Amino acid sequence: MPELPEVETIVRDLQELILGKTIKNLQILRPNVIRGSDTIFKDNLIGKTFQSISRRGKNIIANMDYGLILVVNLGMTGRLGLQQDDCLFTHPAIYFTLNSGKILVYDDVRRFGKLDIYSEQEWLDRSAQLGPEPLSPEYKHTDLHEKLNSSGSPIRSWLLDQKNIVGVGNIYANESLHLSGIHPQRPANRITKTESQLLYKALRKILISAIQNRGTTLNNYRDVSGKSGNNSSKLRIYGRHGEKCLSCSDQVQRISFSNRSAFFCPSCQR
Ligand SMILES: [Zn+2]
Repeated sequence: MPELPEVETIVRDLQELILGKTIKNLQILRPNVIRGSDTIFKDNLIGKTFQSISRRGKNIIANMDYGLILVVNLGMTGRLGLQQDDCLFTHPAIYFTLNSGKILVYDDVRRFGKLDIYSEQEWLDRSAQLGPEPLSPEYKHTDLHEKLNSSGSPIRSWLLDQKNIVGVGNIYANESLHLSGIHPQRPANRITKTESQLLYKALRKILISAIQNRGTTLNNYRDVSGKSGNNSSKLRIYGRHGEKCLSCSDQVQRISFSNRSAFFCPSCQR
């Protein structure tokens, strides 16, 4: 599932490729990826221009004309990219024909992704329900510590809840907990102030480095031009169960809770 670094990579690519381009036509092959009516979706978007493209958590936010906002959540396997001869779209769901003659494709194998149209106010209300951006300059380690204090959830589950902090999924939650020496099952309110500062720094470091590496491809994730991310070889704990911890040589363990695997080193993480 694309997390913050993967979505950020896609957003930066789209800014280069489709900013200022107008949607001339729209072909919907799989209406179930659209929230609401596909006719209204089409009527709203045809003739509109991409004014700005940004990210909020794991969502791609495209500001169109007249305050209309197209929000794309890639779900498990969603992809956005320009149709090219060598680009492999196996499950196209929507074709956006642009005035440049290029076609922007939304492709989704499992179709858990969603495209939705909001007014500015509707999106502000929706966005206000999401947690803070971990890379925002306004977000401080004291904010993280304060919020951790009010929850008894296991920290790995706490990090995945988009109401607490946005953009973090299972890969980067596991990586950040390993780097900060915190066991994935530790209750959030049992994390000390010093540890929350380490976790805060770890989250930022891990996410920034993954953006620099254009995201992690384990299975489906591809950037806009169809290329895999380069971050999978940089993972230090995720998916490495049975192998040696890269920090201490103890064996990496895997446990499962809340229907997701967690990976940790019993010596480095308490
Ligand atoms: Zn270790």
